[in-house]
Amino acid sequence: MDIRELQRLDAAHHLHPFNDNAALAKRGTRLLTRGEGCHVWDADGNRLLDAFAGLWCVNVGYGRRELGEVAAKQMQDLAYYNSFFQCTTEPTVRLAAKLAELMPHDLNHAFFTNSGSEANDTILRMVRHFWAVQDKPRKNIFIGRHNGYHGSTVAGASLGGMKGMHKQGGLPIPDIHHIDPPFWFGDGGDLPEEEYGRICAQRLEDKILELGADRVAAFIGEPVMGAIGVWIPPRNYWQEIEKICRRHDVLLVADEVICGFGRTGEWFGAQTFDFRPDIMTLAKGITSGYIPLGAVMFNDRVAEVLATRGGELAHGYTYSGHPVCTAVALENIRILQEEGIVERARDHVAPYLAQRWRELGEHPLVGEARIVGMVGALELVPDKPGRRGFAEKGVVGTRCRDIALANGLILRATNDAMLLSPPLVITREEVDELFGKAWKSLDMTAREFGIAGV
Ligand SMILES: *Cc1c(COP(=O)(O)O)cnc(C)c1O
Repeated sequence: MDIRELQRLDAAHHLHPFNDNAALAKRGTRLLTRGEGCHVWDADGNRLLDAFAGLWCVNVGYGRRELGEVAAKQMQDLAYYNSFFQCTTEPTVRLAAKLAELMPHDLNHAFFTNSGSEANDTILRMVRHFWAVQDKPRKNIFIGRHNGYHGSTVAGASLGGMKGMHKQGGLPIPDIHHIDPPFWFGDGGDLPEEEYGRICAQRLEDKILELGADRVAAFIGEPVMGAIGVWIPPRNYWQEIEKICRRHDVLLVADEVICGFGRTGEWFGAQTFDFRPDIMTLAKGITSGYIPLGAVMFNDRVAEVLATRGGELAHGYTYSGHPVCTAVALENIRILQEEGIVERARDHVAPYLAQRWRELGEHPLVGEARIVGMVGALELVPDKPGRRGFAEKGVVGTRCRDIALANGLILRATNDAMLLSPPLVITREEVDELFGKAWKSLDMTAREFGIAGV
């Protein structure tokens, strides 16, 4: 592989997502060539422990041949057929049924998309339609959360609460409001967990009352907020949110694009936090990232209204229920189930990972180490044990990420939080490798920035 030539072509012709492309062109893009289990190799031959599972998605790990084989077979048998015009294909039907079986309570109905963003776009339209056909066209407001992430399409970015995204392209679109999410490290003060959980949930009820319950269609949130830095809510937060939604007949949407398929310990975040969403959006881990696929799961109530009063659904994608993608998802779920990967991660790996992660929390550069199941973050601070961050946000985090990479470890940095989301198949030995490389990287970072105690 001619790396320099590829970097030159990349800089000339390829606009990268979420990137400062001028800076990238100067630095030269990094090329990945191969993956096996929890490791990937770059074009220079470096072996890297991928503690971020690609982008929160490679739950079964890299290099599972079965997933490629079912894709190849489906392509040979029937490469494509759509689900429009009263048609569909076997893997698509089987996946819908399989998801209904896996789902908690009565989330029995699937609509397929190609991504998490499209799944969230889909619910924006479907939920508004759901209320409109029940003679409540004014019940159309979505409430999301500041710093939430629901994807990059117009509706996804609007439902999300990322200021930097809203700035580009005139978002959010009308009738979307945001409340503050729970973020203990940032604003929990000294409150007990349950009290802080109630206060944060109350922000939703206050917003509903301010807007009028007759105007509010749905509330959407990630059970654990991923992109902003793995913000883990208080234990009672989601139950309180559910009570408020029921009280005001507001639909509850769980964006489980990251949490779904074992990330938080249980199969779904709604199980970890013990609440009952009316709608759930899925992507990422649904195929372990081997092929693009997203889904929206609806409960019986929503499905019933759409079926009996909804008329023709004026929504769908050419590739909604693409048979190659759904076949891969089925095989991915078969692997997760037959090998007991979710339960093994929850019972045997997550407790050890949490123990080692908390040891990292003792490092002088770390203000908080948080983790639930197989997802966590380290909050880097200048003055431990203070909860105050660095004056200039993101410099230390980005540097720490680059140092970790040079040490053979992939962690993501959001501002000054180092994020963890490894393949669920990570072993205890690999957790030790992760710990060693992370500690060394924290040391090197701390020394560079003159942090006391190193
Ligand atoms: C990644 C993500 C999305 C968007 O999914 P895409 O497949 O990138 O469109 C939506 N919601 C959450 C919580 C995500 O993490």
